[in-house]
Amino acid sequence: MAENCIFCKIIHGEIPSEKVYEDEKMLVVCDVAPAAPVHVLLLPKQHTDDVVTASSELLRHMMSKVKLIAEKTGVVEKGFRLVINTGEEGGQTVKHLHIHLLGGKVLGWPPC
Ligand code: 5GP
Ligand code: ZN
Repeated sequence: MAENCIFCKIIHGEIPSEKVYEDEKMLVVCDVAPAAPVHVLLLPKQHTDDVVTASSELLRHMMSKVKLIAEKTGVVEKGFRLVINTGEEGGQTVKHLHIHLLGGKVLGWPPC
């Protein structure tokens, strides 16, 4: 557990969250400030800063559950977007790897 990491605190139950899915490696929770009708965050249970520091095994596991989470949140048929903000210029505000899954409306593009 990384010190002062909001997502580590969510994973350890120190900050409440609305859980959507959980397995041995990952917790999926609703974003506290949703940017779309469906906006969940895929959080690895073991702290790693970002997609650059994450192991390929972890990333493979997280991606392998995307279809299931999209089904659970009701967006698999109409479509959805995955976002991994990385670093300062990438807009990452919480330095614990997370994959945003957004959907439930037509999403704009480009995002900047
Ligand atoms: P980033 O900008 O790092 O890609 O995304 C961080 C996300 O975490 C934001 O969408 C923000 O709303 C969400 N967030 C920040 N604090 C909390 C929290 O305490 N609980 C939950 N569920 N989401 C949070
Ligand atoms: Zn963390």
